[in-house]
Amino acid sequence: MKRTIYLLLSLAFTISLMAQPAKKYVLVIHGGAGTILQSSMTPEREALYKQGLQNALNAGNAVLKNGGAALDAVEAAIKILEDDSLFNAGKGAVFTNAGKNELDASIMDGKTLKAGAVAGVTNIKNPITAARAVMDKSEHVMMAGKGAEEFAAANGCTVVDPSYFFTASRWSGLLAARREDSLKALHKDSTHTLLRQPGNYDYKYGTVGAVALDIYGNLAAATSTGGMTNKRFGRIGDSPVIGAGTYADNNTCAISCTGWGEFFIRLVMAKTISDRMEFAHQSLKDAADEMIMKKLPALGGDGGLIGIDKEGNIVMSFDTDGMYRGYVKSDGETGVEIYK
Ligand code: ASP
Repeated sequence: MKRTIYLLLSLAFTISLMAQPAKKYVLVIHGGAGTILQSSMTPEREALYKQGLQNALNAGNAVLKNGGAALDAVEAAIKILEDDSLFNAGKGAVFTNAGKNELDASIMDGKTLKAGAVAGVTNIKNPITAARAVMDKSEHVMMAGKGAEEFAAANGCTVVDPSYFFTASRWSGLLAARREDSLKALHKDSTHTLLRQPGNYDYKYGTVGAVALDIYGNLAAATSTGGMTNKRFGRIGDSPVIGAGTYADNNTCAISCTGWGEFFIRLVMAKTISDRMEFAHQSLKDAADEMIMKKLPALGGDGGLIGIDKEGNIVMSFDTDGMYRGYVKSDGETGVEIYK
């Protein structure tokens, strides 16, 4: 009798466990926004981009599926994109006007509001791991240049020779940008407009980002970039600036931006979306669309962002011709897109 009761109880317990809905997780990534036109893309190249995005989704999904943290998922996804020379982050980063690669990255934990960032690093293979090290192993949020490099090396980040970041396509991108700039100088116009001209997609864009919600309800965001082609050396964009290019708060959302960084900094883009949700009670989509479709172009900027709110709703908003992007959810829903 006792044995039967015990068996019945354990059966009921097992059934109740099975009946509980699995906690959901969501991962969204981007590989940069810009003048990405289907007409200037070959099917082979398109397939490579999609595969690159898929590889990053797979890496992040594996972490989340196994009960891993959002923070680890965004880092894992970004590392894959940094190692893929198609994207403007890590290997494949664009060149400064001095012909060097200067990399920026940041990461933020929505649970604790802890954050880490590096700016202008030249020899760290995966800048996102350096940003994570700043967050986890220092009392600082942002480190730049030599100090950041030394700190990253001392904390286990892989160091490479700066030549590791050289790619022929980014180099010809720099040469093209220089040509355009000297033409523009002749006509005494702003050089800035050139950086966002149609047809430049191939060498101007490709910043990478990831946002995730894990099964514990925690949000995280991360962004990594080589910046903008032909940027003045020493220039820092929005990507490593917490609140501008990256932000995560469990109470609101996780955001990663891409686009013309100066405007994202001036608009304090990522944190403003969080604030709109918290104080104006806007939905993630309304807040993101208003910032990207109205406020950003009103200042003369362009770009896009990805976001997740605490319920797992996602947004992929951009005012450019395209944005490399993808998402995967615990229910199996997934997608990879490039164009509008
Ligand atoms: N936001 C990056 C920067 O300004 C560039 C990009 O996303 O294309 O550095």
